[in-house]
Amino acid sequence: MNGQREKVVIVRYCEIHLKGKNRGYFEQIFMNNLEKALAGIRHEIRRPSGRYVVENFDADMTDEIEERVRKVFGVHTVSVGTKVRADMDEIFDEILRIAPEKGTFKIETNRADKHFPLDSMQVNAQIGGRLLNAKPALKVDVHAPDTVLHVDIRENGTALVFKGIVKGAGGMPVGTAGKGMLLLSGGIDSPVAGYMIAKRGMTLECLHFHSYPYTNMQAREKVEELARILSGYTGGLNLHVVSVTHIQEEIHKKCPEEMMITLLRRFMMRIAERLCEASGAQCIVTGESLGQVASQTIEGMTSSNAVVKNVPVLRPLVGFDKTEIIEKAREIGTYETSVLPYEDCCTVFLPKHPLIRPDLAKVEKAESALDVEGLLAEALSGEEILRL
Ligand code: ATP
Ligand code: MG
Repeated sequence: MNGQREKVVIVRYCEIHLKGKNRGYFEQIFMNNLEKALAGIRHEIRRPSGRYVVENFDADMTDEIEERVRKVFGVHTVSVGTKVRADMDEIFDEILRIAPEKGTFKIETNRADKHFPLDSMQVNAQIGGRLLNAKPALKVDVHAPDTVLHVDIRENGTALVFKGIVKGAGGMPVGTAGKGMLLLSGGIDSPVAGYMIAKRGMTLECLHFHSYPYTNMQAREKVEELARILSGYTGGLNLHVVSVTHIQEEIHKKCPEEMMITLLRRFMMRIAERLCEASGAQCIVTGESLGQVASQTIEGMTSSNAVVKNVPVLRPLVGFDKTEIIEKAREIGTYETSVLPYEDCCTVFLPKHPLIRPDLAKVEKAESALDVEGLLAEALSGEEILRL
């Protein structure tokens, strides 16, 4: 590799998860997730102590690789660097190439190879000194430099040289915290809820309800697109699609108008719980936020929780303001799709005055006019599953 430069992407994980007995388990899942994120791109991932290094890829794929690994949960920071021979001249050449012309800097050396003839302080001093000579408008500032230039001397006779560290997605590797069934509408909130919970390490299945032909195919494509964006963070997921058209028609026909959403929610929860059983998901996840709309009161949540017997319902956005959710949606790339103007099933037969504080006993009484089991069986029999 004499004199050769090769691009590398250096990935540091959130070490907090990697303490104690679980370490090997987390690292294996994290490695698999990195591999999944880079599927289709020629590369190799090596794991020298304390970090992961992606190498052996085409230089013009560097940005794409950086983008993809940054999104993997568990990634703390990422740097794009260059691999050179662990030789002071070669290291200096690369430092010279990436150093700015003016401003303050410091060299920060990490020496994994303890046989390297100079210690890190000596590398800092020698490289820094040569750089000052070569670029006289630069100054050293070890406390608050404009630019930190990193030299990472590895065990195998190579050194990684880089500047700039960008923040990764953080969180825990997906696959380390069980599986959840996300109720995914076409709105702004539920994709963010899915992101938040996946970030804690949970694998997701998504479940979408439509009211075709009251809602159209574009509404459905929009949800598929949202699920696809989410799958970029989770390394793939299943989207379950279930029609609630007949359920809504029956509620409309047989129950008080103002209970439409309350009753529909209960059907959604029942279907979700059954699909949890079928797919091994251990909880239901929704995008509800306390008090955001009429149906998202504590009484509304009580009414929908009451039909779920065996799994918890997680609402990761319960304490978020709408503005905070929108900010997050923009950050994760779902906002633009979420605001496309197609109808959700909840807007079909929308009552003029929805119940704000449903009383559980009254809800159950109204619901007794319906063939709940029959409607559930019918809805579930039409389930479609898409792999994204
Ligand atoms: P969102 O922005 O996620 O649509 P919202 O503010 O519109 O939320 P609601 O319509 O009250 O709120 O829905 C509350 C939650 O119920 C959603 O976050 C989602 O988890 C679930 N939900 C609503 N409609 C659907 C649907 N058509 N398919 C699947 N889940 C849904
Ligand atoms: Mg909605």
